[in-house]
Amino acid sequence: MNKKDIVSFSYNELQQEMKEIGEKAFRGKQIYEWLHVKLAEDFSQMTNLSKGLREKLEAFYEIPQMHVEAHQISKKDPTEKFLFRLWDGNMIESVLMKYDYGNSVCISSQAGCRMGCRFCASTIGGLQRNLASSEMLRQIYQIQKISGERVSNVVVMGTGEPLDNYDNFLKFIHMLSDEHGLHISQRSITASTCGIVPNMRRLAEEGLQITLALSLHGSSQEKRKKLMPVANRYNLREVLEACDYYFEKTGRRVTFEYSLVKDVNDQPEDIKELTEILQRRNCHFNLIPVNPVRERDYERPDRKNALEFKNKLEKNGINVTIRRERGSDIDGACGQLRRRHAAASEGETDEIICND
Ligand code: SAH
Repeated sequence: MNKKDIVSFSYNELQQEMKEIGEKAFRGKQIYEWLHVKLAEDFSQMTNLSKGLREKLEAFYEIPQMHVEAHQISKKDPTEKFLFRLWDGNMIESVLMKYDYGNSVCISSQAGCRMGCRFCASTIGGLQRNLASSEMLRQIYQIQKISGERVSNVVVMGTGEPLDNYDNFLKFIHMLSDEHGLHISQRSITASTCGIVPNMRRLAEEGLQITLALSLHGSSQEKRKKLMPVANRYNLREVLEACDYYFEKTGRRVTFEYSLVKDVNDQPEDIKELTEILQRRNCHFNLIPVNPVRERDYERPDRKNALEFKNKLEKNGINVTIRRERGSDIDGACGQLRRRHAAASEGETDEIICND
């Protein structure tokens, strides 16, 4: 018999579940606290439950295994990267970034990705599978336990497309911000999408307060299509309308992300088109000089050109930041650690550094 993943039950569901196995609902509350506040990884730790109940839990449920396969600590900045091995052997990566205002964790939402963005390492091997809500949560839990410090911000910007794993992603947001769990404010959570229009609209209607980031990357439909296959499905106009809808429904300013690629989307016409798109929107624009990926031949513009690009947009009244580079010595770009690990185990490349 397959055991159920107990960490993916919401607070109410777990109480209901306990009733169904003949226990009092409040046992569900106790277990929820063990799993989502005390971050227990084993039923034997749940010392306020009877031995009989613990055995019953053991028989019917599991806390799916999530092993730290590699832990890299940057020497350049306070950034750490984690590679987790899941119960079925899939690998996912997460990043801890320490800032003055608190600790931020970047998590993966899928093992692999099927979106195919041309400059991204995460998508090279395609999609393996969706992550369960528990697997999204536990990247944060594990990092909080290992670092011994509270996580205050979460960004869903690791491997995968959260809106391609909609139900699990939505449940994850509810559970992460639930007062009975880690209780991270929704305003401190950002999720990034490549622009799956129907699910952006659905998300707008969920009554959430999370920040939505759109991976724009192209200043026109044509340019976007060159970098992002998803643009063949949803055109730029529809995507921008979905962003406007998100703002209208939630009052949350959308962030536009733009991976700046040398000689591809860093041209004068891009400044012009971007200005048109951004000027009349209440939004934030985040430039990410592209992180070159071994398997792709896109180049990063030099710092001077990226700054010039930023300045020109600012002159046109756009609110721009350049994403500070973090962890460049530890495979900072999305999917690079996971990718390198896969290649290393196929005997294809250099060894992985493992610091744990
Ligand atoms: N699927 C989501 C989350 C992806 S990762 C999305 O598409 O938004 C978060 C951001 O990093 C995305 O904007 C993604 O396009 C960008 N990104 C991926 N690989 C990159 C690279 N090599 N250099 C710069 N940005 C990259």
